[in-house]
Amino acid sequence: MPSHRHERAASTLQRELSRILLEEVRDPAVAAVRVCSVSLSPDKRSAKVLVSGWVPNSGIESDQRPLRALGRATPFIRRTLAKRLRMRRVPELRFDYDLSDQRSRRIDKLLERIKKRPAKGLKDLTMLLLAVALPLGLSRDALALERLESSASIMGSEFRVACYAPSRKAAAGAITAAFDEARRVDSLLSHYKPDSELSRINREAGSKAVAVSEEMSDLLAACVEYSAATEGAFDVTVGSIVHAWGYFRGDGRKPWPWTLWWARRNSGYRHLELNRSDGTVRFRKAAMRLDPGAIGKGYAVDRVVGVLKEFGVRAAFVSSGTSSIYAMGSPPDRDGWGVDIRAPEAAGEAASVRLSDEAISTSGSYERFFESDGTRYSHILDPRTGRPATGVEAVSVIGPRTIDTEAWSTALYVNGPAWAREHPLPQSRVYLCRAGGGCGWLYGN
Ligand code: AMP
Ligand code: MG
Repeated sequence: MPSHRHERAASTLQRELSRILLEEVRDPAVAAVRVCSVSLSPDKRSAKVLVSGWVPNSGIESDQRPLRALGRATPFIRRTLAKRLRMRRVPELRFDYDLSDQRSRRIDKLLERIKKRPAKGLKDLTMLLLAVALPLGLSRDALALERLESSASIMGSEFRVACYAPSRKAAAGAITAAFDEARRVDSLLSHYKPDSELSRINREAGSKAVAVSEEMSDLLAACVEYSAATEGAFDVTVGSIVHAWGYFRGDGRKPWPWTLWWARRNSGYRHLELNRSDGTVRFRKAAMRLDPGAIGKGYAVDRVVGVLKEFGVRAAFVSSGTSSIYAMGSPPDRDGWGVDIRAPEAAGEAASVRLSDEAISTSGSYERFFESDGTRYSHILDPRTGRPATGVEAVSVIGPRTIDTEAWSTALYVNGPAWAREHPLPQSRVYLCRAGGGCGWLYGN
């Protein structure tokens, strides 16, 4: 019986293959092809890839052209896989049509797995499996949909997906793939896991240029753009300052002055040398450290939303903790997903919003802080002063993409309400609670 790890390798392979076929293989003969399943041989040297597709008025299964095109593209596909998955040996790929009911059996298996998880008490999963019969009074389309909700512990917080799909099987397949994707992002970005790509960069980029994946290079380039747009309030190189304030694996403490001086010398996005054509990263300061804390969950949420869409899901609620949320479409016969914005106790009323195809991210001092001599020191730091930002209790940003709302909620926490009003983020809304009281919409509502 294949191990969990083996299955995950096959599922990662399937997802990347789907992406490569969708985004990179230009041959029109494979435009309608979709990857249904990937079975890896026990030694992982070969993989059987079952595909299906549909073109108007004819099933492609009787047409050999797509298979021949896939055969021609195989060397390119394997090279791309090697790069994206950082694999030394990519399995030989054999493409064939999915003529059996293999796909539905695979989803059955996923459903079984989902059902068994809580009983087996898998350590990383708390499962809330709700196949809810929809209330009366809904349209026929709505009645045809099933709601499935599930959560897993990923990236140090509860990752939750609720989605509507034509069947429980479809929803279960989508959610399982969604969690796999969140775990993949975690293994890319975690600064707690020593074998993540980000940890490797943190270890090596202070002394040499380090080759990074395209995904990491894109993400770091986006981070530099956020830094420039927010005048340095968001800064992914804030890691050494976060360490100095004791917030890496800790609850925070006041740093010694020289520790802070050293940390500030070893941070700053301008010292991040990103060579996009070579695909390398180097730190100009040896002790610089990347901290993905302000952006990682939002990025994972966006990627998960992408996976759910690939699986045909049109309505879903995805959250990582309570601070990074994406609401896709709407539940049947509703006009969005209701979200309550949490307001710190002293600061006033909470707001409620209805979101559809929108993200919301919240940054707040209440999430992590320590108090000393009557002062509250938050985990959100102003990279320019090296000190915890003050003046704001919490800020929520609503916008089209979670990664943007993530970066901006952190930056607006640091820059404060006056700056936020003068620099409105397009297509967005901002709700802010000041330290000591007073919550309200700054713009966009
Ligand atoms: P968030 O809750 O999204 O605002 O993220 C806060 C986390 O991001 C902190 O716990 C730190 O790990 C990290 N961080 C703190 N200050 C900054 C900053 N100014 N820019 C980027 N990341 C930060
Ligand atoms: Mg953030």
